[in-house]
Amino acid sequence: MSAVDRQVEHRLLEHDVRYTRGRRRVVEALAASDGPRSTADLHAEIHGEVPLSSLYRSLAVLEEAGVVAPHFSAKGITRYELAEWLAGHHHHLVCLSCGLVEDIEIPGELEQELRSIVARIGSRSGFEPTDHALEIEGTCARCR
Ligand SMILES: [Zn+2]
Ligand SMILES: [Zn+2]
Repeated sequence: MSAVDRQVEHRLLEHDVRYTRGRRRVVEALAASDGPRSTADLHAEIHGEVPLSSLYRSLAVLEEAGVVAPHFSAKGITRYELAEWLAGHHHHLVCLSCGLVEDIEIPGELEQELRSIVARIGSRSGFEPTDHALEIEGTCARCR
């Protein structure tokens, strides 16, 4: 059992939810992916091992327990990824041409700069930021 599996199992236990084989497959697929995935992507990635109806149910249960977080694209597609407490803090590259959403981690010093910029922006409005999410929109390498 991986570290992520153990963390998820513990969290689900707190929510009185069983970590079924289907849910495990979803978590495994998301842990292995390099960005948020739609239900259709996940269904294909786990080779239809989990029926679509129970895949929807699994994602709802995992989202409710805070294991999985939804990512909403401008084109109205919902994709899912492991929540940041499991996956680590990161940002997204969003291709406006093909819709690809890719995770990106930035070096510590840049992340520090980003945090200070976010703090400055927040303070202009008397707001104290505790977190941020950054989406970089543009064109991916395949679409250029
Ligand atoms: Zn693209
Ligand atoms: Zn992500």
